[in-house]
Amino acid sequence: PGPQLPFDPSKKTLVILGSGWGATSLLKGLDTSDYNTIVVSPKNFFLFTPLLPSVAVGTLNARSILQPTRYVTRHKSRQVLVIEAEAKEVDVRNLTYLASNIKLLYNVSRLTKLLRSQANDSEIQGQISSTTIPYDYLVYAVGAETQTFGIPGVREHACFMKELHDAEKMQRRFLDCVESAAFPGQSDEEKDRLLHMVVVGGGPTGIELSGELRDFLEEDLKSWYPELASRIRITLVEALPSVLPSFSKELIAYTERTFKESDIDILTKTMVKKVNEKSVLLKGPDGVEREVPCGMVVWAAGNTARQISRDLMAKLPEDQTNKRGIAVDDYLRMKGARDIFAVGDCTASSYAPTAQVASQQGSYLARVFKLIAKKDKLEADLAHAETGEGAEKLKKQVDKVKFKPFHYSHQGSLAYIGSDKAIADLPIFGREWTSGGVATFMFWRSAYLSTLFSLRNRSLVAGDWIRVKLWGRDVSRD
Ligand code: FAD
Ligand code: NAD
Repeated sequence: PGPQLPFDPSKKTLVILGSGWGATSLLKGLDTSDYNTIVVSPKNFFLFTPLLPSVAVGTLNARSILQPTRYVTRHKSRQVLVIEAEAKEVDVRNLTYLASNIKLLYNVSRLTKLLRSQANDSEIQGQISSTTIPYDYLVYAVGAETQTFGIPGVREHACFMKELHDAEKMQRRFLDCVESAAFPGQSDEEKDRLLHMVVVGGGPTGIELSGELRDFLEEDLKSWYPELASRIRITLVEALPSVLPSFSKELIAYTERTFKESDIDILTKTMVKKVNEKSVLLKGPDGVEREVPCGMVVWAAGNTARQISRDLMAKLPEDQTNKRGIAVDDYLRMKGARDIFAVGDCTASSYAPTAQVASQQGSYLARVFKLIAKKDKLEADLAHAETGEGAEKLKKQVDKVKFKPFHYSHQGSLAYIGSDKAIADLPIFGREWTSGGVATFMFWRSAYLSTLFSLRNRSLVAGDWIRVKLWGRDVSRD
C-alpha cells in the first residue's frame, strides 16, 4: 500500500527525509497546497541541537528543546503525511533510470526498545513494519553521524553528543561515575579515575560541553558531593594546535584563558588513539603514547556521512565523488540526479555543517518549490494548449520562471564556554566584531531563546533556567 493521505493525483509528490534543521525550515516555508507532502524521519520531532549540551548536564529538560514535527505540519494549508520511519534505501532517477522510490523501515530503535520491554507484536509495529513510497521530488536532509575514524573502542565505550539519547546517556554515565566514586571504601586512585572526564574534540561541541560540565561541578556538585568535588577533573583533548579553529584568534585565546581559570585542562596537538573501558590512549605532541585513566569519555570529533548517504552516492559514482557527503550544484540539486535536492550536514559543500546553513538552505528550497510548482503547472497547461497565440504566451511565461542560486548569509558564530561566559564572532556592517564574556553570555541566551521554535519551547527553556538558578540541577537518576 502506498501513502494514504493527503494524496491528490493532480499534484506531484514531495518527500522530505529528516526532521532536523534543514527539513524543518523547509516545512515551515513550504506552501503545502502545491504538493502531496510526506515527511519521513526516525524521530518524529525537531531537536534544537545548540542547547543539547545543556540537557546533558541537566540545566535543561529534554522536552524543552524538542518540537514535534506534527506541531509544524498541523498549521499548513494542506495536510502533510508524517511517517516515523528510517529510510533504508533511495532510488535515484537519472536520465536512463526512471523509477523513484524510497524504502522505509519502521523506526528500528523504537522497535528494539519495545521488544526489550516485552510488548506483544501488535503493540510494537501494527501489521507492517516496512513499506516503499514513490516520489516525484525528494529533499534529502538526513544530517550526518559522528565521525569515529574507526578508532578502537569509541563506539563501545564513549558517549556521543549528537542526538537526544546521547545527552541522556552522558548524564546517566556522569552521575554513575559520581555515585560510584561516593561509594564507601572506594580507593583514592579509583575515585580519581571515576571523576576524570575526558572530552575529545576541541570544536564548538566539545568546548560547550566542557563548559557545561564545569558549571555543573561548580554550581551543584560542590554542594551535593563536597568530599568529591575537588577530585573532579575535566580534560579536553584536541588533535590540532588550537581549539575552535573556526573562531578568531582573540576568542581562541580568551577561551583557553577561561578554561585555565576554570581548571579545565586543554591538551592540544594530542590525538586519542584508543578508548578503553577505564582509560584513553593519548598520543601527545612528543609522539609518545600514554594511557590515561578516566571514568567517562565524550566523543565530539566531528561529522561523517551516514550509511544511507554513502549508498545513495554510490549509485552515481561519476558525479558523487566527494566522500564527505552529497555533492550539490548551486541550486542544491544532487549532482547526477534529476529530482533530488540535498541540504545541511549530509552535503559536501564549501559551507560549514551548521544549523545556520541548513536552515537557510531549507528556507531557500521552500521558495524554489513554489517556483517549481508554478513552472510545472505552466508546462502542463502548455502541453494541453493548442498551438497559436495561447501556447506562445504560455511558453513565454515558462521561460520567465527563473531560479536564483542559493546564497548563504553568515549571521555570526556564538558558543557558550561555561562560567556564564560566551564568545561571539559577528559580522557587523561588513566588519568582524569579536566579543567574549558575561555580556556575550546574555546575548547568547537571548539569541537562542529567540531562535527557539515556538513560544512553548521558549517558556520551557526560560523556566528551566530559572529553576536551575533557584534550586540547582537535579542529581537524581533512574
Ligand atoms: P539534522 O538536524 O541532524 O537532522 C537530520 C534529520 O534526519 C534528523 O531528524 C534525523 O532523525 C533524520 N534522519 C536520519 N537518518 C534518517 C533516515 N535514514 N531517514 C530519514 N530521516 C533520517 N550549528 C549552529 O549553527 N549553531 C550551533 O550553536 C550549533 N550547536 C550544535 C550543538 C551540538 C551539540 C551539535 C551536535 C550540533 C550543533 N550545531 C550547531 C550543528 C547543527 O546541529 C547541524 O549543522 C544541523 O543539525 C544540521 O541540520 P540537518 O538538517 O542537516 O541535520
Ligand atoms: P568539529 O569538526 O568542529 O570539531 C571536531 C574536533 O575534533 C576537530 O577540531 C578535530 O581536530 C578533533 N579531533 C578529531 N579526532 C580527534 C582525535 N582522535 N583526538 C583528538 N581530537 C580529535 O566538530 P563539532 O564540534 O562537533 O562541530 C560540528 C559542526 O557543528 C561544526 O560545523 C560546528 O561549527 C557546528 N557546531 C556549532 C556550534 C556553535 O556554533 N556554537 C556548536 C556545536 C557545533
